[in-house]
Amino acid sequence: MAATTPFTIPFDTEPLCIGGVWRAAAAGQTLTLDNPSDGSALARIARGTAPDIDAAVAAAQAALDGDWGRLTAAERGRVLGAIGRKVLDNVELLARLEALDVGKPLAQGRVDAIALARYLEFYGGAADKVHGQTLPFQNGYTVLTLREPHGVTGHIVPWNYPMQIVGRSVGAALAMGNACVLKPAEEACLTVLAFARIAHEAGLPAGALNVVPGLGEEAGAALAAHPGVRHLSFTGSVATGKLIQAAAARNAVPVTLELGGKSPQIVFADADLDAALPSLVNAGLQNAGQTCSAASRILVERAVHAQVRERMAERYRALRIGPALADLDLGPLISKRQQGIVEHFLALGRDGGLALAAQGEIAADAPRGGFYVRPTLFDAVPADHPLAQQEIFGPVQVLIAFDGEAQALQIANGTAFGLVAGVWTRDGGRQLRMARSLKCGQVFVNNYGAGGGVELPFGGVKHSGHGREKGFEALYGFSTLKTVAIHHG
Ligand code: NAD
Repeated sequence: MAATTPFTIPFDTEPLCIGGVWRAAAAGQTLTLDNPSDGSALARIARGTAPDIDAAVAAAQAALDGDWGRLTAAERGRVLGAIGRKVLDNVELLARLEALDVGKPLAQGRVDAIALARYLEFYGGAADKVHGQTLPFQNGYTVLTLREPHGVTGHIVPWNYPMQIVGRSVGAALAMGNACVLKPAEEACLTVLAFARIAHEAGLPAGALNVVPGLGEEAGAALAAHPGVRHLSFTGSVATGKLIQAAAARNAVPVTLELGGKSPQIVFADADLDAALPSLVNAGLQNAGQTCSAASRILVERAVHAQVRERMAERYRALRIGPALADLDLGPLISKRQQGIVEHFLALGRDGGLALAAQGEIAADAPRGGFYVRPTLFDAVPADHPLAQQEIFGPVQVLIAFDGEAQALQIANGTAFGLVAGVWTRDGGRQLRMARSLKCGQVFVNNYGAGGGVELPFGGVKHSGHGREKGFEALYGFSTLKTVAIHHG
């Protein structure tokens, strides 16, 4: 398939997509997106509001009642597969857009675009493999269950991994036969809009996916509150997640919340440190630390604490930070606001007397207007310090020393979050004890993140959220079960 050329940068105003038609926002308003690498205005997009959400929900319902709703599961799977192939043809375009819009180094943009394709392949292949059951029951009855779509599903996503999050959420929802209304983040959404164009070019029926960019309190709140939406999938902050759950409660609809984290990697003295070291740093600093599952706390058994600190510090000192298109180790943060938040945490560490283990350097030729922050490793941080408790969402990691398994667990589980944890040890019994006792949604033993793992159910406990996306599990969340009991005597 040929690559798509959806638009060039800079462009005038990128419209929203409702019922397969690209149009301006109903109120005619627009939003300006910044280029985080230099702080310049990058692009203008339509700023959708409640009337656009109304139109998008109506278009999604029409798709369910029309062409999209009539497709068999196998046909839906074929459409998703075709979209995935077209995404693969457009990896370079998508990576470049993501670099400009999110400030993500090109290499990471490529990883995200390929992951988007992989979600579509995975959910395309799974679409006709989710089925109900026949249940043993009383004589004279046949009882069966049917897996059915919710109907119109609402998807509200953040700016940090737009492609991956849209892939996992919209991919699973479409596979199950729902029709989606998607509200991307106001800070960055060019790849989401490009994806919508690619999907339609690849044969997605009109109305199956509608994209309405806009502000959270306008388009986002209107989508969360819309009575025509039968399921909400939200990825973002805890504060907004609570608002979404309250809105879902008012309409009595199910909601999946994928929220923040303060995830630990726990390094025992018997660990293979050569294997652990790259992951200890990379999993904390990927996407400049703006990752929900960022390993922002490194818990180290005291016997290897000094060694791990020195080896991590060495890596930090070699890090290069600069504009996304230069494709260095780290790019900028998403916005001036996010830069201010991270600098506040850095000041809190410095002024509170935390030991600075190491910092990376911003490239001398990085544009002055870019939203750069030096990656920073603090040492010997008390487990109850704000830097060890709160999600910073920037390139900041804390080292915490511990003595023995019990204390490691107590510290690891001792935050409001519970998203992901990593455990590094050669002791098989300890691997299992830790995996069972960690309070979180995913545990990785002698690795962290398993390379993204499209197939692996993902989600949190406590303030990290509830419900699962990714893997087969997501297909159950994006469908509802109907029981049919037939009395035939
Ligand atoms: P955010 O909550 O500010 O925004 C996320 C989305 O919600 C955006 O589209 C925004 O427009 C929308 N929104 C904001 N206010 C709204 C409202 N009142 N009603 C409806 N929608 C509204 O989050 P953020 O700062 O953009 O993203 C960072 C957060 O997302 C971090 O906490 C991070 O950990 C989390 N996150 C979680 C995952 C996960 O899978 N668990 C993945 C990525 C990011």
